Amino acid sequence: MNNTLPKKGKVYLVGAGPGDPGLLTLRGKFLLERAEAVVYDHLANAKLLAHAPAEAELIYVGKKGGIEHTLPQEQINQLLVKLGADGKRVVRLKGGDPFIFGRGAEEIEELVKAGIPFEVVPGVTSATAAATYAGIPITHRDYTASVAFVTGHEADGKEHSNVAWDKLATGAGTIIVYMGIKNLPIIAKKLMDNGRAPDTPVAVVRWASTPQQRSVVGTLATISEVVKQAKIAPPALVIVGEVVKLREMIDWYEHRPLFGKRIAVTRTREQASELVAKLEEYGAECLEYPTIHIEPVADCSVMDAALADMAAYDWLLFTSLNAVTYFFKRLHEKGLDSRALAPCKIGAVGKTTADEIAKHSLRADLIPEKFTGEGLAEALIAAGEAKKGKRFLLPRALKAMETLPELLEDAGGKVTVAPVYQNVPPQGRKDELRNQLIAQEIDVVTFASSSAVTNFLNMVDAQDEAELHQLLDPVKIAVIGPVTAETVRKHGLRVDIQPEQYTIADLAEAVAACCWG
Ligand code: SAH
Repeated sequence: MNNTLPKKGKVYLVGAGPGDPGLLTLRGKFLLERAEAVVYDHLANAKLLAHAPAEAELIYVGKKGGIEHTLPQEQINQLLVKLGADGKRVVRLKGGDPFIFGRGAEEIEELVKAGIPFEVVPGVTSATAAATYAGIPITHRDYTASVAFVTGHEADGKEHSNVAWDKLATGAGTIIVYMGIKNLPIIAKKLMDNGRAPDTPVAVVRWASTPQQRSVVGTLATISEVVKQAKIAPPALVIVGEVVKLREMIDWYEHRPLFGKRIAVTRTREQASELVAKLEEYGAECLEYPTIHIEPVADCSVMDAALADMAAYDWLLFTSLNAVTYFFKRLHEKGLDSRALAPCKIGAVGKTTADEIAKHSLRADLIPEKFTGEGLAEALIAAGEAKKGKRFLLPRALKAMETLPELLEDAGGKVTVAPVYQNVPPQGRKDELRNQLIAQEIDVVTFASSSAVTNFLNMVDAQDEAELHQLLDPVKIAVIGPVTAETVRKHGLRVDIQPEQYTIADLAEAVAACCWG
């Protein structure tokens, strides 16, 4: 006889918030990080799935404004019951708050019937988020002391609507309508017929708290026409009330310098996050196109021989962050640590590289003012360090420019070039990129290295020069520094944005400054 307890899972209904992935609760994040299955729909931002463990089962169940259901509600309920009965820890991720027009209770009803334990985590509902991100405080002492959340689904045709539009019209100061776009003319009319002034301000906010947020403003008398003209489709919220006037003063989200801009960020997947975070902070929507995949070289023999004989070198030179990362990776693989580098001085190109070295509790002895390999060679020569007999170890990419070793050798030094990593073009995403360029959906593309330029252009795959210009002329090209700029120009393209300092933070700031105003 099987005498173990029946294995029972648990289902957590988690409010995903309105769209901005930063508006998930800490409790929601905690549960996602421990989920074995995640069941999510159209309004829950898919970026939140990144919190789930890689091995978690991710199940999309659709749901677009109640019209197009990938899975009917009944089947969603059954799916949750089944996953729970299988003993899984399930996160049911629902847009906004699960209990505000979210059918949360219907899902729970089935779980209760099946005896599956559950919990509910509230979320930031789209009504408050849309108002806030459109610069509208939903209450204000001078304007209104009450708010009503209503569904606009009910306005149409139903003989006995659950919404008392007659009382609501003048009974609530601020009225926020979910799912109200289709019935907006009827809703506006009902409110006016029942005593709300036709000049009452109204805002409609679509895809609130996301880079696609769009808002329009009118009055009860005009808003239907405004929405029609602006072609606003669901999901959107309708906010009715005097507080809408405050938008003029408060509107902040849509005024960030890069709001509404789409930026293709080409970096390695590993390094893109800092630039993306900075650009998003300025309001941009980032499309990440990793054009480079970095991996260790297959043949480490030169590196390994050098590591076994560090005392033979006067200087250890790093020209990139990747070189630092992969050098130390190999050092550790060989059972060594930073003490092995004691005999050498260290030279680094750029602050980012020096900061990476500092993570290993080592200080760069020389950081040239000019952030290039050439700049490092010149600084070493000027400091009298490249004399005859001086030995340099240069861990770097398999393919790289020869300027640094050549200059040092010309000055009498002896350079050991030790490849530690290589750039390989990543697979896929080519069609997506081409389609976005053809549709002119990309405002800016950023390049942080020459190989990113070359690999990106390979992905663009233009048939000829004319097509290359057709695709890329509408796009502003941003580069991190002069070497990358030169590569862009070599391909016959123009550089629009280049920061004075060659750092990611400066690149992000230069992009913002260029696009602002
Ligand atoms: N439980 C959700 C509401 C689901 S009903 C919540 O608490 O927010 C679906 C409706 O919510 C949509 O038709 C739209 O009116 C509104 N909605 C959801 N997310 C939205 C968003 N990001 N921007 C504007 N409206 C949104």
